[in-house]
Amino acid sequence: MARFGTRAIHGVKLPAPSERPLSAPIWQTSTFAFDDAERFAHALAQPREGYVYSRYENPTTAALEGLMADLEGGVEATATASGMGAIASVLLGLASAGDHLLLQRDLYGGTFSLATVVASRLGVDTSFVDATDPIAVKEALRPSTRAIYVETIANPTMTVADLPAVGEVAREAGVPLVVDNTVASPYLCRPIEHGASVVVHSATKYLGGHSDVVGGVAVFADKGLHHRAWKTMLDIGASADPFAAWLLLRGIKTLPLRMERHTANAAAVAGTLADHPKVERVYWPGLTGHPTHEVAKRVLDGYGGMVSFDLRGGRAAGRRFIEATRVAKLAASLGGLETLVAHPASTTHRQLDAGALAAAGIGEGMVRMSVGLEDAADLLEDLTAALEVA
Ligand SMILES: *Cc1c(COP(=O)(O)O)cnc(C)c1O
Repeated sequence: MARFGTRAIHGVKLPAPSERPLSAPIWQTSTFAFDDAERFAHALAQPREGYVYSRYENPTTAALEGLMADLEGGVEATATASGMGAIASVLLGLASAGDHLLLQRDLYGGTFSLATVVASRLGVDTSFVDATDPIAVKEALRPSTRAIYVETIANPTMTVADLPAVGEVAREAGVPLVVDNTVASPYLCRPIEHGASVVVHSATKYLGGHSDVVGGVAVFADKGLHHRAWKTMLDIGASADPFAAWLLLRGIKTLPLRMERHTANAAAVAGTLADHPKVERVYWPGLTGHPTHEVAKRVLDGYGGMVSFDLRGGRAAGRRFIEATRVAKLAASLGGLETLVAHPASTTHRQLDAGALAAAGIGEGMVRMSVGLEDAADLLEDLTAALEVA
């Protein structure tokens, strides 16, 4: 019999119950043990045929990937450490030095930085286009274009991309369409149905839904694209942690209920704002006056929980507003239970003057709200009181 120290290390007898756990267990292990070198070598290259090391694949993570592939209508998925991990794994997997990426102009800041700083340092060319204009997308394609990249609902203007039209341009050109579906979530839109080849998410937002985990996921309509992104993901080390994957699995179970309530609360908030004398303009795709309302009706199954608005009082009013709300908290991120407010001109974009802000499509008095799941009456009271102060 082995001695005490050895037994303390190797003595755990893992139960292998024949009953299946109702909730997915957390496989909190960095590595897996094999009896046979052949199987070990095979599993290293085939993530779906065995587990070797959790940077490559892990059973809890695989459960999340299977669920997300199903919900998005894809054939495969890769979970990652963050939304940026998913976006980097996909785009750096598709483009090499000399290749070109065509991206939507109103882009999430991290994606813009990945494209203009990291990808460009690797010799990848990038250019930007208006994703609501399929003709402009078509004209901006180059022979070296390796992906078209758009966001279903782009922040802070809540512009909805014409996915069927852009999907058709991508299909004709034989270039994969990559869609960031973070703000819509698969409950409101499944871009693969409209011609996307890859869907990426910051799972930190609506998928997790509880502001307690950072994670990402990429879903693929094609196994070859998945394998490429998976290989890039493990080479750059963007792998998901099993505990984070478990939190996401738990969050996704209530995604439909949460999205219904986010949307209902956002409708109440957008309606109240639209009637308020201190508000110049409201950006919510559910409003008939929103520039992409007609596209939203075709592409979305609901208008989502993100609302922006321009305060007539400009920069000073925006700043007073975000400091005056009591229910809504001043914080980065979106998609959680809690209502969050942001004022780009006095926080994330404070270095920009009025001209530079306008070029980025952001007004000096623009406030962005991630409408949470609180009682609508409390949110509306909070909003109205903060508008008095602004
Ligand atoms: C937050 C966000 C990201 C980045 O996700 P992380 O999980 O923070 O890495 C990407 N796209 C959109 C639209 C986002 O809101």
